[in-house]
Amino acid sequence: MSLWTHYHTPATVDEALTLLAGYQGRARVIAGGTDLLLDIRHGHTPRPDALVDITRISGIATLRQDGDVMALGAGVTHAQIVAEPVLSARATCLVESCGVVGGPQVRNVGTIGGNVAHALPAGDGTTSLVALDAEADVVLDGVRQWLPLRALFVGPGQSRLDQTRDLLVGFRFRLCGPREGSAFKRIMRPQGVALPILGCAAWVRLDESGARYDDLRICIGPVSKVPSRAEAVEETLRGTTVGAEAVERAVSVARETLRPRTSKFRATAEYRQEMVEVLLRRVLPLAAERARTGEAIPEGVGME
Ligand SMILES: Cc1cc2nc3c(=O)[nH]c(=O)nc-3n(C[C@H](O)[C@H](O)[C@H](O)COP(=O)(O)OP(=O)(O)OC[C@H]3O[C@@H](n4cnc5c(N)ncnc54)[C@H](O)[C@@H]3O)c2cc1C
Repeated sequence: MSLWTHYHTPATVDEALTLLAGYQGRARVIAGGTDLLLDIRHGHTPRPDALVDITRISGIATLRQDGDVMALGAGVTHAQIVAEPVLSARATCLVESCGVVGGPQVRNVGTIGGNVAHALPAGDGTTSLVALDAEADVVLDGVRQWLPLRALFVGPGQSRLDQTRDLLVGFRFRLCGPREGSAFKRIMRPQGVALPILGCAAWVRLDESGARYDDLRICIGPVSKVPSRAEAVEETLRGTTVGAEAVERAVSVARETLRPRTSKFRATAEYRQEMVEVLLRRVLPLAAERARTGEAIPEGVGME
């Protein structure tokens, strides 16, 4: 039996919304289908009457730089992100996270919009977009608007987007400038195919002297029900001298404030807690080094 009855390929956002509205909850948005088709097959998502494929919408699969701001359509694939030199240099964490999603086949069709819309607290691309403080271009209840990315997440696998009638159109975020850098690393089971045991992205800005953290944003997932920032860790580092002492202070605040949970298929809470520390010790110095030198060559892309 087929997983769906009708398959539509609208050319505009309005056409996609009209199609979804017409099916009154019995159609579902699809992009690369790498999550959705498995979910339908395994009965986690009800079998829809129709799939509305957003990938042919004009402009939805394009990356656009406007000065210091980068705009990504929701239909941009992980492979497109990895191949974009501006992102490698100025949004390195995003390239590193999209570069380890699945294998080449998944990265060639899986989209950054699908990663965010799925709303999993360990989605690799999502973790880096949160650290980059991205905003999302969405149509919610018929109203097109920009929202902070974090405002989209409601719970594990639950987004404010109703994927039978709302649409994620794209993202924008500020690219790293002078004295800014970012990095992403994750811990994955050797044979793991989907989500990591833990992922961590950090964006840092150093002060004029290059010796202190001026500002930073850290996203670690999953340590809560939604992709979230490690705000207490960020707070403890702001204004302090960059170096091993600061990293150990970050580790100690993370130990006190972050409470990862045990998951049946991935890891125990205790193991994740230890890995939070491991990832902070890897990611913070790397992001600071990139901010200091202005040199950002993504590590590990496509290597897992
Ligand atoms: C073998 C394998 C390995 C994987 N490895 C990883 C991994 O390492 N890390 C990781 O994070 N993920 C991984 N994934 C999960 C998945 O590939 C990614 O999350 C991918 O980015 C999903 O994008 P997609 O375009 O395929 O989404 P789809 O499957 O098309 O859609 C996912 C969900 O989002 C909704 N949706 C999609 N686009 C929109 C939109 N524009 N507006 C509104 N709703 C939308 C759909 O209705 C659906 O509910 C893996 C999956 C597989 C099968």
